[in-house]
Amino acid sequence: MPAQLIDGVALSRQIRAEIAQRAEALLVRSGQRPGLAVVLVGDDPASAVYVRNKVAACKEHGLHSVMERYDADLTEAALLERIAALNADPAIHGILVQMPLPRHIDAQKVIGAIDTRKDVDGFSVLSAGELMAGLPGLRPCTPWGCMKLIESTGQPVKGKHAVVIGRSNTVGKPMALLLLQAHATVTVCHSGTPDLGLHTRQADILVAATGRRNTVTADMVKPGAIVIDVGINRNDEGKLCGDVDFAGAREVAGWITPVPGGVGPMTITMLLSNTLDAAEAAEAATNAR
Ligand code: NDP
Repeated sequence: MPAQLIDGVALSRQIRAEIAQRAEALLVRSGQRPGLAVVLVGDDPASAVYVRNKVAACKEHGLHSVMERYDADLTEAALLERIAALNADPAIHGILVQMPLPRHIDAQKVIGAIDTRKDVDGFSVLSAGELMAGLPGLRPCTPWGCMKLIESTGQPVKGKHAVVIGRSNTVGKPMALLLLQAHATVTVCHSGTPDLGLHTRQADILVAATGRRNTVTADMVKPGAIVIDVGINRNDEGKLCGDVDFAGAREVAGWITPVPGGVGPMTITMLLSNTLDAAEAAEAATNAR
């Protein structure tokens, strides 16, 4: 029997409806809308599309959003000044600086300048440290969304063997830490892993985040496994595809995410969720004063 599809579009819709309700409740309680500031430097067309989608998703779900767009020659000092102003702005609960930044700007310095309580991308060293230490904090959106997709299968994570392919700071590493925190036994693979299939065939939960299509073929999947495909690639016909050979793996896996329509929609949803969480935390801090 083919695997059950994990529908990221449907799960996203459900979570976004809950977000809209919570945002409305916050507005009624405190007169505040959760606010996201998205900062774009330069004129990369793909980045402009991502930013527009994020701002539109906020508006659609009752969140306040501002988009700040600057020319590519903006100085690092000027950008840091803007981050400081947004950190101090009580109407802004989440700050996202769209990557990549122009080369003359030190991206780590800029991300590090964002107040950790407003780091809705979860990319700063402090946010990474909170995750590493198992402390509460804002989690990186894509792996956080993957956890929600895994949860949506109704299968427990505790005690399962999870294999993550990829070790980037934005996807692979936080994914592995989130699975570890959920009590899975975790293996992390990368481009230096000999015999990838040896590991993936033992995976009850397999997360592929390599950006290389056909990294995972059907013979590399454990029967009944949960397969989460993070990759975004193009096939020979120019169509979107993931890292997993979907048609083949679907015959072996128990659950599988499609590309598109799996992880993709969840990333923006978790950005909205993080912004709302940050706004609710700000409200709680104000009430505690
Ligand atoms: P990176 O390029 O930063 O990392 C890729 C990782 O995959 C590296 O750790 C690399 O290993 C590993 N890798 C590459 N090839 C292989 C291989 N053949 N076997 C085993 N491991 C391999 O990418 P990201 O983590 O940023 O993103 C991964 C994919 O996810 C991309 O396709 C990206 O577009 C997509 N993505 C999708 C999102 C979504 O919303 N759906 C959001 C973010 C990313 P090494 O470290 O040794 O080089």
